[in-house]
Amino acid sequence: MNIVVLVKQVPAVSDIQIDKKNNNLVRVGAPSTLNPVDANAIEAAIALKEAVGGTVTLVTMGTALAGEIMRGGIAVGADKGVLVSDEALAGSDTLATGKALAKAIEKIGGADLVLAGKRSTDGDTGQIPPTVAQRLGFSLLSYAESLEVDGNVLKGTRKNNGGLETVEVTLPAVCSVMETANTPRQPKVRGTMKAKRAVFDVLRVEDLGLDAAEVGKAGSATEVTELFAPEPHPVGNMISGDSTADAVKKLVAELASKNLL
Ligand SMILES: Cc1cc2nc3c(=O)[nH]c(=O)nc-3n(C[C@H](O)[C@H](O)[C@H](O)COP(=O)(O)OP(=O)(O)OC[C@H]3O[C@@H](n4cnc5c(N)ncnc54)[C@H](O)[C@@H]3O)c2cc1C
Repeated sequence: MNIVVLVKQVPAVSDIQIDKKNNNLVRVGAPSTLNPVDANAIEAAIALKEAVGGTVTLVTMGTALAGEIMRGGIAVGADKGVLVSDEALAGSDTLATGKALAKAIEKIGGADLVLAGKRSTDGDTGQIPPTVAQRLGFSLLSYAESLEVDGNVLKGTRKNNGGLETVEVTLPAVCSVMETANTPRQPKVRGTMKAKRAVFDVLRVEDLGLDAAEVGKAGSATEVTELFAPEPHPVGNMISGDSTADAVKKLVAELASKNLL
């Protein structure tokens, strides 16, 4: 089974800076890391490879240095990494990013299964897995808590309104996974050495068969016009008393005064 795992480089959360000229995140030079839930997607891929055989290819789209975040995945058993990087991709929204990633997957020979994290910690839209599935014409199983493959069927569970539903889709498919899906394994020394030596294939826009106008800002449907911090939530009202009974009495009085009882 050919498994592709989409992995994203994200800024270390506390260090996010915004470029005031275009309202984009400043990514070049900012400390970065693997999008945390993507480690769960990698773990799911390695576990499936162990169960049914095949290969695991990591694919990331980002800056020239974004490939570095794939080394951890190689260290735990992914076979190779592919970096999609080109100045023409700068400013891509989810539409353009999904388009480029889908083309990259086709370029490297397609996949039986594409795994991704449920959301990134920076863009946080959760739109990439469905966009890639739609572009490739694959089934989609989103927000998987568990997954297994039986023949050409991908079976997963996901939370829904307090319950757990089981979903089956036919391969080829895209599946986004939750951080509760598994516990990512730690690399062994041999894997770490292999990861250090890994060389990643680089795909530019022309390699994807795309025109520069189809990606980047020109190929994007959205424009960030303003960025602002959300209003802070009002501080809650702490009710205390000499005893639990006293505190409850005060709470009841407070709720009654607001016509909430
Ligand atoms: C107007 C606009 C301009 C933007 N300009 C830039 C820019 O210049 N540079 C830039 O980096 N971003 C830019 N972005 C953000 C970029 O579009 C999103 O980060 C990207 O489309 C992914 O969306 P997301 O972060 O919401 O991913 P989600 O859909 O929340 O991510 C879910 C999963 O998809 C996979 N995934 C997501 N992104 C990638 C990726 N790049 N490579 C591989 N796998 C991935 C991961 O598995 C991830 O866990 C811009 C966005 C907008 C709206």
